[in-house]
Amino acid sequence: MTVQDLDKIKQNALKALESINDLDDLNTFYPTVLGRNGELTLALREMKNLSPEERAVFGQHANTVKKELEEVIENKRKALADAKMREMFEKEAVDVTAPGKVCIPRGRIHPMTQVYREIRDAMIGLGFTTYEGPEIEYEDYCFTKLNLPKGHPARDMQDTFYISDSVVLRTHTTPCEVRSLLSKKPPFRLVIPGRVFRVDEVDASHSPVFMQMEGFVVDKNLSLRDLKGTLIEFVHTVFGNDVNMRMRPSYFPFTEPSAEIDISCTICGGKGCRVCKGTGWIEILGCGIINPHVLENCGVDPNEWSAFAFGIGVDRVTSLKFGISDIRLEYENDARFLRQF
Ligand SMILES: [Zn+2]
Repeated sequence: MTVQDLDKIKQNALKALESINDLDDLNTFYPTVLGRNGELTLALREMKNLSPEERAVFGQHANTVKKELEEVIENKRKALADAKMREMFEKEAVDVTAPGKVCIPRGRIHPMTQVYREIRDAMIGLGFTTYEGPEIEYEDYCFTKLNLPKGHPARDMQDTFYISDSVVLRTHTTPCEVRSLLSKKPPFRLVIPGRVFRVDEVDASHSPVFMQMEGFVVDKNLSLRDLKGTLIEFVHTVFGNDVNMRMRPSYFPFTEPSAEIDISCTICGGKGCRVCKGTGWIEILGCGIINPHVLENCGVDPNEWSAFAFGIGVDRVTSLKFGISDIRLEYENDARFLRQF
């Protein structure tokens, strides 16, 4: 074994390395020269047969060759790894500007949601903030605290889904008035949206679940004038400035006095048509000054504070606004219908 043999091993190895273009091949090649039984390692083992002088020269040269080869292999490994990474990036690159393969149809906002948002925004513009309560409600909040004690004939006005003797599916959003009176410090103005439930057969104008929205104002010295002013502003914002409004006396157990609000028919402009049954007027909401008993029941002093409220059926307003003659269409989610809005 001579120094020339070492150079030969080196030349052969360098030549072999030139034709290697793959990391796996490089990993297979490495031990054939530098591994435990590699050519160079075996050559080093032959060193013991040399004279001490030869051994020194041979040993030094062998180390140089080893270092050189290791460096070449390491550089090659880096280059191959980089190339592999680049290739992967190129292959897996995604053109984020390419058009999609599937055409996703454009969605619409449900007409009832459109109307809800419009009313809500109109009320927020009048200084109201949204307030929500649970759909499953204490009977106490839904009726008793609202001046409808057990056995009160007015309870017959609403047929209720009872969950237990004391828990119901709320029949109106009005229990939120109780909740806000019990938890908030007056004065405040709330807009209260939500689903409500009644035992009703489904037909063109009835649904066992429907969407209500309520305005509730608690302040000092409120009168019917404040209520009417708020409602005129509200009606004009939602239905337009050309619409007229009138108040009719009515009855609700939790308000005194109570009124119902009509607006001039949005279809015929007040001349009389099928929708307004020839009267020129359409009833849109109920309202009133909160009965002092309700404030008292909720721990608010009726001598210090007063309140008014008005409740509106979002589905009904939606029907009026878009001329929808069957309320079922608003709850059935038929895409052919909804696509028109
Ligand atoms: Zn009409």
